Amino acid sequence: MPYQERIFWHDTVEMPPACSEPLPQAVDVAILGSGFTGLAAARMLAKQGTRVAVFEAETLGWGASSRNGGMVLTGMKLPLETLISRYGREATQRMYAASLASIDCVEQLVAQENIACDFVRCGHLEVACKPAHFEGFARSAEKIARECNHSLRIVPRNELRSEIGSNIYFGGLVDETSAGLNPARYVAGLARAAVNAGALLFDRARVHAIDRASRNGGPAFQLTTARGPISAREVFVATSGYTGRATPALQKKIIPIGSFIVVTDPLPDALARELSPRNRMIYDSKNFLYYYRLTPDNRVLFVGSAAFSPENSSTIRRSAEILRRGMVDVYPQLAQTPVAYAWGGTLDFCFDIMPHAGKLDGMYYAVGYAGHGVAMATYLGMKMAQFIAGGRDENPFAGLPFPGAPLGLYNGRPWFLPLAGMYYKVLDWIS
Ligand SMILES: Cc1cc2nc3c(=O)[nH]c(=O)nc-3n(C[C@H](O)[C@H](O)[C@H](O)COP(=O)(O)OP(=O)(O)OC[C@H]3O[C@@H](n4cnc5c(N)ncnc54)[C@H](O)[C@@H]3O)c2cc1C
Repeated sequence: MPYQERIFWHDTVEMPPACSEPLPQAVDVAILGSGFTGLAAARMLAKQGTRVAVFEAETLGWGASSRNGGMVLTGMKLPLETLISRYGREATQRMYAASLASIDCVEQLVAQENIACDFVRCGHLEVACKPAHFEGFARSAEKIARECNHSLRIVPRNELRSEIGSNIYFGGLVDETSAGLNPARYVAGLARAAVNAGALLFDRARVHAIDRASRNGGPAFQLTTARGPISAREVFVATSGYTGRATPALQKKIIPIGSFIVVTDPLPDALARELSPRNRMIYDSKNFLYYYRLTPDNRVLFVGSAAFSPENSSTIRRSAEILRRGMVDVYPQLAQTPVAYAWGGTLDFCFDIMPHAGKLDGMYYAVGYAGHGVAMATYLGMKMAQFIAGGRDENPFAGLPFPGAPLGLYNGRPWFLPLAGMYYKVLDWIS
């Protein structure tokens, strides 16, 4: 399969330059990671007059933020009934409302900062892989309407052609609130906005160690970075699936999971409209799910955790084969269409599959988006910035128990991923 092993979105954007000056001696807030979380926080803190520096181990926006599917989705990874039984009705309602607010937050930010990232409220479509899944859609829509006052539309199988040019599904569920965007353009726009607000963004600046220190008699942190040392009054960790040894306590709470994408050559207009007549963000109802969409230039972008292990040439190659077969199963019309790009990235799952934002070892963090990070990372980055700047902690995930691995059997290297992959494959087979 002759494709380029590179990120399609990167060919559509120019990232703003990082700061080439030497590091200052001290800042108020040091942020690790230049994705949606870190940059949304940096922009907001800098706008409030805080001296803030972002440290990125690679290039600006290098992590999941510039390599994802660009789906800006309502809801969370776990179903509403699981959330209610775990956290109660009121807390669940607040979390669900936050998922809706997070999309408004992206839309407003894109408008305020004039970010040309093809943001469009195209809605999402969930498609049922089995008749029982479709029956579950009705229960789920009814529960979301009742508990969260948010309405979804059921699409029976005989009407599904108005939503998707595929015959393999048993019905669908549409949410008109969701949106799509070009994630690399969005993260580049956020970086520009953070710089314009006064934040310093340093690339090739991995933070190797963070030690407690004191400054002017008060507590502070001393950071050792690839660009030299720096002192910071507060640290915000926004490293998501790439969280590493600099923050070992957080690393032990995050499972890095590989996710992979293939993108086809551009399709003729008529074929693109046949595959996705309403340009929805589409995902299926399996645990080991596929999700897919059209890009603004009429390519099909098709995503799945085909390998589970983080990205490298071998997992990308294997995943590209699997994803291409998956794509043709959904859309036989694409049997002869070449795949032009293939790449991978790393998702951050916590052990309870929930986002978490708070303070650990004296440092602030926001992680655990589980594949729903485009909107939620922006939202929690901004909420944490307010909190760091002395405001109230208004994030609805504050105070949730933040579990580590059962029996503590995890040091940050996910030895159990192949087993988890098998478990979910079996689950998809039997349920
Ligand atoms: C293939 C794929 C598809 C996805 N599709 C979607 C989707 O369609 N919709 C959706 O909502 N979500 C999706 N996601 C998830 C979403 O992209 C992420 O949740 C989101 O981008 C996380 O943003 P972030 O800023 O927290 O982390 P990231 O963007 O991952 O940024 C973390 C950064 O931290 C840096 N870093 C790590 N350690 C250090 C250190 N010690 N010092 C300095 N820097 C460090 C890394 O280099 C990295 O750039 C997808 C993810 C992947 C991988």
